[in-house]
Amino acid sequence: MEKPHQHHQFASDNTLGICPEALAALEEANHGAAQSYGDDEWMRRVRESVREIFETDCDAYLVFNGTAANALALAQLCQPFHSVVCHQQAHIQTDECGAPEFFTRGSKLLLVNGARGKIDLNEVEATIARQPEVHAHKPRVVSITQSTELGTVYTRDEIDAVAGLAKKHGMFLQMDGARFANAVATLKCAPKEITWQRGVDVLCFGGTKNGLAAGELVIFFKKELAREFDYRIKQAGQLASKMRFLAAPWLGLFRNSVWLRNANHANTMAQRLVERLRHDAKIEPVFPVEANAAFVRLSDPAVNRLHERGWHFYKFVEPDVYRLMCSWATSDGAIDQLISDWLR
Ligand SMILES: *Cc1c(COP(=O)(O)O)cnc(C)c1O
Repeated sequence: MEKPHQHHQFASDNTLGICPEALAALEEANHGAAQSYGDDEWMRRVRESVREIFETDCDAYLVFNGTAANALALAQLCQPFHSVVCHQQAHIQTDECGAPEFFTRGSKLLLVNGARGKIDLNEVEATIARQPEVHAHKPRVVSITQSTELGTVYTRDEIDAVAGLAKKHGMFLQMDGARFANAVATLKCAPKEITWQRGVDVLCFGGTKNGLAAGELVIFFKKELAREFDYRIKQAGQLASKMRFLAAPWLGLFRNSVWLRNANHANTMAQRLVERLRHDAKIEPVFPVEANAAFVRLSDPAVNRLHERGWHFYKFVEPDVYRLMCSWATSDGAIDQLISDWLR
């Protein structure tokens, strides 16, 4: 039997649906009337849960998607004459249509290289040193992605080193955590150990790729940095009036640590996929598979064969490196089917 959705499984971790726990929480919240614009019980409990999970007093806000979370967080930290240092493969650079530049009204992204999607600190230093005072944007934020766009994970020590560098230059550290859960699952650490304890100032904590329909958290670990952020969200058109329907599914993820279970599942399936590719197709991943993404080098005939069979996935690095993404819902059956079409 043809299952049309099956073929989109590995294109991204946003092609699958809402996880059952989040959907049930949404359903539970769908009764009667509640306060609007986030003054509701669900949002209060989300904030409380965030403080519990991160074991610190912090301020959390919900916006509709990750682009808004990143762009508004950066706008909160930057004046228009500031700059943000990030990896050249960073989502804020490659996939947000200039939203960070737009919402900061002039800040510039300073791009650096670095192996496996992680910024090279020598390059960061050199880039900062190259900005002539007054004549160039003033470096204000270092932005890192955890887990990275290339499916790797910054270790505690690596985050320490990034934070140390940022601090030395009087810069903030922002973390794009669209796949933060996958990194926590990999490192098996407390969330505080790779965020505020290391010096992360603002975390964009993604829920969509973890199993929600929508809704990303922007978490300020220094509450003074969140000053008037509510106005910024509203002006950007990112304040949900029926906020409880963004908040309640997050409670579904937090209850019984479903967010970690989902991330663990996605990571485990990526490992399983890699094992099958290695064993059956004799293909080695291009980057270490540390979260839920596998990157593989594919010949044109192999790509055409899979595309003809209906599979969707994206080329990520020119000329021939493709990304296969696993999610909370990736099944053994889907992996079997992909592999058997691969070998056909
Ligand atoms: C998916 C993703 C986002 C958020 O993207 P939206 O489509 O705007 O929700 C942000 N950063 C990274 C690294 C992502 O993969």
